[in-house]
Amino acid sequence: MKYDYLIVGSGLFGATFAYRAKQTGKKCLVIDKRNHTGGNVYCENIEGINVHKYGAHIFHTSNKEVWDFVNSIVPFNRYTNSPVANYKGKLYNLPFNMNTFYQMWGVTTPAQAISKIEEQKQEALLALNGREPKNLEEQALILVGKDIFNILIKEYTEKQWGRKCTELPSFIIKRLPVRLIFDNNYFNDSYQGIPIGGYNKLIDGLLEGVECKTNIDFFNSEFRSWHNYAERFVYCGQLDEYFDNRLGKLDWRTVSFKTRIENTPNYQGNAVINYTSHDVPYTRVIEHKHFEMFGQAVYDNTKSVISEEYSTEYKSGMEPYYPVNDDRNNELADKYRQLTAQENNVIFGGRLAEYKYYDMAPIVEKVLKMEID
Ligand SMILES: Cc1cc2nc3c(=O)[nH]c(=O)nc-3n(C[C@H](O)[C@H](O)[C@H](O)COP(=O)(O)OP(=O)(O)OC[C@H]3O[C@@H](n4cnc5c(N)ncnc54)[C@H](O)[C@@H]3O)c2cc1C
Repeated sequence: MKYDYLIVGSGLFGATFAYRAKQTGKKCLVIDKRNHTGGNVYCENIEGINVHKYGAHIFHTSNKEVWDFVNSIVPFNRYTNSPVANYKGKLYNLPFNMNTFYQMWGVTTPAQAISKIEEQKQEALLALNGREPKNLEEQALILVGKDIFNILIKEYTEKQWGRKCTELPSFIIKRLPVRLIFDNNYFNDSYQGIPIGGYNKLIDGLLEGVECKTNIDFFNSEFRSWHNYAERFVYCGQLDEYFDNRLGKLDWRTVSFKTRIENTPNYQGNAVINYTSHDVPYTRVIEHKHFEMFGQAVYDNTKSVISEEYSTEYKSGMEPYYPVNDDRNNELADKYRQLTAQENNVIFGGRLAEYKYYDMAPIVEKVLKMEID
């Protein structure tokens, strides 16, 4: 047998698995149907800027082992995610914090902010008259009140889901934390950042010394008969596709990107700006250079690359980004998961094969915890 492991998918799961397998002396072959390795964290270099081709990726974790591991492959920078919301031309800091409340109401102390939020929450509770919230709108109103909801949540969520908040189930929003300090750091995690030099450095470091073949779709390749090549098989492709969609197709949500070069060194002054009103068709604008360039370096490159993000209804052939957590898809995914148990020597790993949304750090954590023999 030529390989110990055949790995389908060179994203963070496949690449981290290959790294660990190599460390234990195993020989791996990694194949990917795209023309590059890295899966969704892959960046394309445009005008000297790493452009997050499959959506902006910010690594964040409180797990020191995971943080130390990724930093041992490539050091990470000090990028701190602090998105800004633009509602009809007015800017608000995110996540909801004292800066946001000052911008919204002019309040300057936590006590004033609490009083404003509580007053609006009570108004929403009174409107329910003792019954449970029956949709996302009612749920959000009792959690944060009408101003935060109307300005920062309602239309943005409707753009994301392509449905009115009154038609969306309440369980989508369980908590809406408000932060009563002046702190625009989006994550509560202990560590966050972007690999210095970009995510491709992380993937290249993980895959160093591992044989990789791109432009190969597992299902249309000789490797379909993986038993001929390897003792064991790691599958990071779509769960339903592995079983020829025999029980039906799983649904996904997707995002499309319009990327362009701007002839200015600093287009919007921040990596992430959310557009929270209906009158702008996109949900966010990403200015990629701010993930990796700070201070004077922003101006040393006279150009900038920006991407507008549009929430798009998923159709076959599009990028499958987010699993759909409704009853039909949860039940179908469970049935497929039961089938995976019958596959000997196959590991189903990562967001596509598990039909589960994972941030990057939990993917790395999962692979670090696996016993690789
Ligand atoms: C829009 C978006 C934004 C995100 N932002 C963040 C963020 O800010 N922070 C964060 O922590 N996480 C973020 N994530 C999550 C992150 O992308 C995932 O955690 C990570 O990509 C999971 O890695 P993976 O290896 O499971 O999947 P992937 O990266 O998708 O890799 C799977 C690979 O398998 C290949 N493949 C599939 N089928 C086949 C086949 N038949 N033959 C050959 N190859 C195949 C694919 O081409 C792909 O390269 C985001 C996700 C999305 C969708």
